[in-house]
Amino acid sequence: MKAIRVHTFGGPEVLQLDEVPVPQPGRGEVLIRIQAIGVNFIDIYFRTGLYPAEPPVTLGMEAAGVVEAAGEGFTQLAPGDRVAYCMARGSYAEYAVVPAWQVIRIPDSLDFESAAAAMLQGMTAHYLSHSTFELQPGHVALIHAAAGGTGRLLVLMAKMRGARVIATVSTPSKAEIARRAGADDVVLYTQQDFEAEARRLTDGRGVDVVYDSVGASTFEKSINSLRPRGMLVSFGNASGPVPPVEPLLLSRKGSLYLTRPTLFAYCATPEELRWRAGDVLGWVADGKLTLHIDKVYPLAQAAQAQIDLASRKTTGKLLLK
Ligand code: NDP
Repeated sequence: MKAIRVHTFGGPEVLQLDEVPVPQPGRGEVLIRIQAIGVNFIDIYFRTGLYPAEPPVTLGMEAAGVVEAAGEGFTQLAPGDRVAYCMARGSYAEYAVVPAWQVIRIPDSLDFESAAAAMLQGMTAHYLSHSTFELQPGHVALIHAAAGGTGRLLVLMAKMRGARVIATVSTPSKAEIARRAGADDVVLYTQQDFEAEARRLTDGRGVDVVYDSVGASTFEKSINSLRPRGMLVSFGNASGPVPPVEPLLLSRKGSLYLTRPTLFAYCATPEELRWRAGDVLGWVADGKLTLHIDKVYPLAQAAQAQIDLASRKTTGKLLLK
């Protein structure tokens, strides 16, 4: 089968289309014939070596497809089942072996592309809005990169929970996408000071929570945008990882909370995974959550997809097929 692998860490040029044997499922695993693959920023971190892995690394965490074979010890999935997953590396390929407990059945009305587009970023938006900081009516949330894959879904879910959303984006066309997702106010953080805007839009009080996937370039102003006892949810590094933080900073800025969550910790059990995936795929199936698939690339053009994602050119979701 074909698989996109990296043998040494580096830029997009290290992605290689290799011919490798089809993997075989062991106990508690299933083999999936992949139909659509989600592209995520985490794939770039594994390519560059920011997140550790032993090469050769087959990239990709997320895909939708058909169960081809099931290993022993798990009877709830059978060959032919339409499924999706997003927490097992190796999805930039024609087949992947995945722990069976991580595999979710797709509702009949959902196509493979939609399922692959919804899983990782949708479940991330779910845990951020429902668990890390449980948004309620009356809360004001500042959401960065709000036209991106995760950001846009987070805006939609924050609005579903009744919060007020201040969104940041880099361009007027991205501002339009954030507005259509329901953002109450949109700040062009490439032109405007988002800290000053967050203060102005909350009459000086500051926001209850900042969801910051941008990292290094926004961290300081994100902290400064919070109300006393507000929470900074630093969940990504699109502009680079946040440098070390002195706990006394949180004290000086008003007894703030800082957390650096991961999807894995918020889908740690089958029950939690099924709750989030059931909500997300169910909402997509019944039209409550709309997806925005920006572009679908052939598997062999995975490097181009990563270049586009990292260069801030894209909106919503990128897929490989
Ligand atoms: P996006 O579609 O959001 O793309 C990244 C966006 O970040 C860009 O479009 C851009 O939006 C913004 N950005 C700001 N500065 C930069 C920069 N210097 N370089 C590149 N992009 C920049 O990607 P994803 O939805 O896949 O991921 C977003 C972030 O969320 C990533 O950091 C990812 O690691 C994180 N994440 C974390 C998870 C977790 O559980 N912790 C799970 C899923 C994602 P604009 O042009 O508007 O500035």
